[in-house]
Amino acid sequence: MNIVVIGGGPAGRTAAIEAAQIGEEVTLIEKEYLGGKCLNKGCMVVSGFNDVAKFLKDSQRFSDMGITNEITDLNFKKISDGIKDTIAKIRRVHEDETIKAGVELVKGTAELEDQTVKVDDEQFPYDSLIAATGSRAYIPPIKGSDNAKTYKDILNFDKIPEKLVIVGSGVISAEFAGIFSAMGSEVQVICRNQFLSVLDDDVKGYVVRKLLDTVEIHEKVQVNEIKSEGLDTDNGFIPGDVLLATGMTPNSEIFKGKVELGSKGEVKVNHRMETSTKTIYAAGDLTGGIGTTPVARMEGVVAARNACGIFAEADYRFIPNSISLYYDVAFFTSEDDTEALGGSIPGSAGPGAFWGVLEGNTGFTKVKVNPESGEIRDISSISPSARTSMAYLSKMMRDNYKTEDFDDFMETHPSTDVTYKLIRFLARFG
Ligand SMILES: Cc1cc2nc3c(=O)[nH]c(=O)nc-3n(C[C@H](O)[C@H](O)[C@H](O)COP(=O)(O)OP(=O)(O)OC[C@H]3O[C@@H](n4cnc5c(N)ncnc54)[C@H](O)[C@@H]3O)c2cc1C
Repeated sequence: MNIVVIGGGPAGRTAAIEAAQIGEEVTLIEKEYLGGKCLNKGCMVVSGFNDVAKFLKDSQRFSDMGITNEITDLNFKKISDGIKDTIAKIRRVHEDETIKAGVELVKGTAELEDQTVKVDDEQFPYDSLIAATGSRAYIPPIKGSDNAKTYKDILNFDKIPEKLVIVGSGVISAEFAGIFSAMGSEVQVICRNQFLSVLDDDVKGYVVRKLLDTVEIHEKVQVNEIKSEGLDTDNGFIPGDVLLATGMTPNSEIFKGKVELGSKGEVKVNHRMETSTKTIYAAGDLTGGIGTTPVARMEGVVAARNACGIFAEADYRFIPNSISLYYDVAFFTSEDDTEALGGSIPGSAGPGAFWGVLEGNTGFTKVKVNPESGEIRDISSISPSARTSMAYLSKMMRDNYKTEDFDDFMETHPSTDVTYKLIRFLARFG
């Protein structure tokens, strides 16, 4: 079978490798860089900057305590160049891995014709096509929006903005607020509705009070115009460089008229990643779903297996999410909205949070359970280890672990994770 994949981001690259490993002939077409947004403009850029931001926060604390001297110089260009070099190195590993898996890589912009994909003058006929062209920043219809920057411009900033105004209330807005405030910018966040509405109220409270304490957050504010030197809002003018973090829009233009699209331009799929056209599958951000790399990868695998004639379905239960701040913020929620018993506790002292004890900032964990059935519904955790433990906890929930299964849980010590303690405590109310 001849499989063509368009887009070499997490969804497309994973799909291509999976289909090649199943033994099919696979061509992967990418117009820019393998790794997509995640590696080249998104997750890894945030990781690179956030490591520096954490270091700066730690240095500030240690200099306030007289342990070290204050850091006064920060070379933004060196940070950006270092991130670019690291990304280029990872990209080479991706390329190697993809080719070794047996995928034929084609560099170019794909266009779609009947049962064939066109790149410049070359045709790539397919038995099955996997569409994985991802998404880009959504630019809201606000006057002057071309005066604003988005995530993709950040590595090319020539300096750290003195004042930064971030428009948007989601994860990306929070991450850049944390990063730039740690690097010395005066940061204001403008939200049309609520900031971080994906989080439980208590968890959001901790984030705002302890992790973004130097950021000014404005909720329920309408932006009227974006100018080169700031924003006009319902609450008046807010000066600063403007960064839009107002969501994503699917790169679905080449699929118009070929498969059914939803109201936001997303390619409509079922849980087998089948589109309305029998030979076309779609995966990742293009389908307008959850919008994270692990989900894009899962969907890529599911699309590839179905395209190769192997039944597979995506499982969207207990999907772990995370926010990169001074501590990881990680969480998942179930769809069950029956009455639940909730509890929360501060994190414990341990690696990465030891020095937070004196400031009362060791993190925070909240869990909701159904005391009768022992089902664990929601977990949110803020700690240096939350991102890693949440992925394993999510797997346990998908495998139907209950509160009583944590009875014999053996932690490592010292550790900043307290989720097991809280679950054990809540289990007593069953
Ligand atoms: C700032 C930021 C931070 C993020 N942080 C995280 C995080 O910490 N964790 C997380 O899980 N997710 C994060 N995400 C989301 C994550 O990056 C995406 O969910 C993920 O990249 C989606 O993968 P994808 O393969 O669907 O699409 P993409 O990564 O968008 O890849 C699509 C690819 O298709 C290519 N393409 C498009 N059109 C064509 C065409 N016509 N021909 C050929 N090639 C084409 C593009 O060049 C691109 O390489 C972040 C996103 C942003 C913007």
